[in-house]
Amino acid sequence: MEIKQDRGKVCKFISATLTYIPTHCAVCGMKNEHFSVIKNGTQTSRITLPLTGVHRTFLLLKKQRFFCKSCS
Ligand SMILES: [Zn+2]
Repeated sequence: MEIKQDRGKVCKFISATLTYIPTHCAVCGMKNEHFSVIKNGTQTSRITLPLTGVHRTFLLLKKQRFFCKSCS
């Protein structure tokens, strides 16, 4: 957990990573065989946690992105 200043206010940041191996492409439905759907970096989402405390709390969630060799 990190505590940072955001626009003059002290905020807490919690980092988390969401990753998994897909069974198929979510777009074209191509089965993930022989690594036809590969990992393509992560995209970080900043989610405000609905917790009341002294400081605002954000969850920095890194979401796994994928690249499909079938439909790109
Ligand atoms: Zn696809």
